[in-house]
Amino acid sequence: MIPVYQPHIGENEKKYVLDAVESTWVSSRGEYLDRFESGFAEYVGAQNGIATCNGTVSLHLVLVALGVGPGDEVIVPTLTYVASVNAIAYTGATPVFVDCHPDYWNLDPELIEERITANTKAIMVVHLYGHPADMDPIMEISRTHGIPVIEDAAEAHGAEYRGRRVGCFGLAGSYSFFGNKIITTGEGGMVVTSDAHFAGVCRHLRGQGVSPTRTYWHDVVGFNYRMTNIAAALGCAQLERIQSTISRKREIAKRYEAALGGLRGIVLQTEMPWATSVYWMVSILVENGLRDEMMLHLRSNGVETRPFFYPAHTLPMYDRGEAFPVSERVAAAGVNLPSFPDLTDDEVDSICRLVERFAEDRLS
Ligand SMILES: *Cc1c(COP(=O)(O)O)cnc(C)c1O
Repeated sequence: MIPVYQPHIGENEKKYVLDAVESTWVSSRGEYLDRFESGFAEYVGAQNGIATCNGTVSLHLVLVALGVGPGDEVIVPTLTYVASVNAIAYTGATPVFVDCHPDYWNLDPELIEERITANTKAIMVVHLYGHPADMDPIMEISRTHGIPVIEDAAEAHGAEYRGRRVGCFGLAGSYSFFGNKIITTGEGGMVVTSDAHFAGVCRHLRGQGVSPTRTYWHDVVGFNYRMTNIAAALGCAQLERIQSTISRKREIAKRYEAALGGLRGIVLQTEMPWATSVYWMVSILVENGLRDEMMLHLRSNGVETRPFFYPAHTLPMYDRGEAFPVSERVAAAGVNLPSFPDLTDDEVDSICRLVERFAEDRLS
């Protein structure tokens, strides 16, 4: 079976993790943590990095640091992984959904303003499947209305919008380092921000809200959202070759595009002229309601795939009877194909042949 994803674990990953263990700095302090926080922040172009134990709590941390709470609203695309929306729900605020753009499947900037109310506390942008959102118009809306933007970049490490890496356009960006993300720490996350005060608030809340100068003095209800030094050691090794990982993922995506681009009944995610996608997942839409059949066809030929996320507004806890037609259509037709960096060209070609055969038999 060719899996949808598997991380590349090299020699330095093993070496650094072993070194962290042997140093006895196994918990949430240590050199690897400092190195990973500053190295990753520098990589994306932010002044500060605050490492966390996963990408869901890093979003929660950002929202709490912003003061989001009950009665507030946060705008979020409905087509995203559930964690973006759950993080809003944890604060007691209401997620307010927006539909996605039909070509690149991210938050459609044209649809944001109609959802803004007096209670809107933040706009959460998601860079879905490694493709950046259209940040210029979104930042313009943010300035006009005085509403901060936060970026869920959990799937988009290193993706660029007009030549600048995502995660640094808004007040703060949030990343995940789960095993199937662009780089991994096992489980892990990070907040990046260039606002020094905001970084301090995040750091304070991450570590139980303890006073930096007075032992066991806690002045807010904080959290234990810290990352371990062992996880950071893995992250340091992954960060060393993030660019080669991304280049290989882009190569794989372009190989798929060349083979599948013209096929009838198959639609690819469009890489917009202003975007450099990292293709976290190479994704296609299968038309005529045949998505599940295509997935079965691939599975029976040894290829694992994933369906798209269900739009959040259709999940029981967020279903308020709203309709977002683009997201619903894209979600129902979308498939993620294998795209991990160690996938070989031959494997990509054989997957393409399977998709082609299905398209010829069933979609033309
Ligand atoms: C993976 C992911 C998260 C959550 O990250 P975890 O590390 O799994 O908690 C949040 N948002 C999006 C869009 C993701 O893909």
